[in-house]
Amino acid sequence: MSHVFPRHCHADLPAATGGAGCYIHDAAGRRWLDGSGGAAVSCLGHGDRAVLDAIKAQLDALAYAHTGFFTSEPAEALADHLIARAPEGLERVYFVSGGSEAIEAALKLARQYWVERGEPDRRHLIARRQSYHGNTLGALAAGGNEWRRAQFSPLLIDVRHIAPCYAYRDQRPDERAEDYGRRAADELEAEVQRLGPENVIGFIAEPVVGATAGAVPPAPGYFARIREICDRHGLLLILDEVMCGMGRTGTLYACEQDGIRPDILCMAKGLGAGYQPIGAMLCSGTIYDTIRDGSGFFQHGHTYQGHPTAAACGLAVVQAIEERGLLDRVQTQGARLQAALEDRFGQHPHVGDIRGRGLFRGLELVEDRETKAPFDPARRIAARIKSTCFDGGLVCYPMPGTIDGKRGDHVLLAPPYIISDTE
Ligand code: PLP
Repeated sequence: MSHVFPRHCHADLPAATGGAGCYIHDAAGRRWLDGSGGAAVSCLGHGDRAVLDAIKAQLDALAYAHTGFFTSEPAEALADHLIARAPEGLERVYFVSGGSEAIEAALKLARQYWVERGEPDRRHLIARRQSYHGNTLGALAAGGNEWRRAQFSPLLIDVRHIAPCYAYRDQRPDERAEDYGRRAADELEAEVQRLGPENVIGFIAEPVVGATAGAVPPAPGYFARIREICDRHGLLLILDEVMCGMGRTGTLYACEQDGIRPDILCMAKGLGAGYQPIGAMLCSGTIYDTIRDGSGFFQHGHTYQGHPTAAACGLAVVQAIEERGLLDRVQTQGARLQAALEDRFGQHPHVGDIRGRGLFRGLELVEDRETKAPFDPARRIAARIKSTCFDGGLVCYPMPGTIDGKRGDHVLLAPPYIISDTE
């Protein structure tokens, strides 16, 4: 009997024993094309020599040193690299071990910022119903996936949720994309007015929505309008690029494509590319300076934050993305993937939408293309697609449609940036 506590207690999973490029294999020689990089993690594929060498070199030099006593060369170099390429205004990097930790740090930093600014009434966070920000309690509270939240609701902080920006479902037939983007963003204005701007900490959103929706990009102008509303009321804009960042959409930071500048930006997944667990929270100089000149202490921390080996890995990953021209590759292969999906499934009676950016693509599955009616959840479409693909040698990332009770099941594809045409 296994003593591992698996995610699904009744799943009988093969043991992965090795990987090379875009494939993972088991001891019996079965192999799977990693079509979703796990959960949009393995952006360089498996067995990348440069990353492995960087990790080994750091292990030989120094595996770990506590950040209460030391900084480290790889953490400093990685922070420099990220900030040099980040949207204007972001100046400091707080390294953690994954996505949920980055979100927790962001939420607490945002609250502490207002306390130190002398505005302790700012206590409300606003997020969107179509979102996933992680499974720790703060991140879960920010997320909008009811199925994930339901049984833990007594433990969750109060976060207000507004409608997502979801053109396939919510754009009116007579409405231009820009007008829809503005209308969706104005939901934030309405919620801020309801709560009173002086009571609001900030707004958190994924630039391209991943796990809850299958690679949903924003409508044109949506985030520009969101930034405007945040500026008008002094709200902090927190962008969650845990899944869509690190080049996944074809630019290092996903928000570059919408031309916006967040106050706080979270990343993880692709930053370690699966070779080490690492996440990061980037914040503006204004936020950092407020804490530095105030209490001088961010009241938050984890034992493994700023882990030197994880930072050495992250540095090797970002260098690989840059030196190998992988952002261009994500754009060309992403366009190819979109075209291939449209060619193959564009007329499929149960594929309602094919969307995304770069190598971050989603298919929304519906019972009826005309009415966009989702499948009955009892049919477990997402689970069946997952197992059918897996049996056929493909790892992809299907999820049931659990938002607002009216969204379709979807399949997320997020292959390694090195994926070839034939793969
Ligand atoms: N934020 C987003 C957008 C995510 O997709 C995820 C994970 O899927 C998280 C946060 C949480 O990250 P982690 O699973 O590393 O805690």
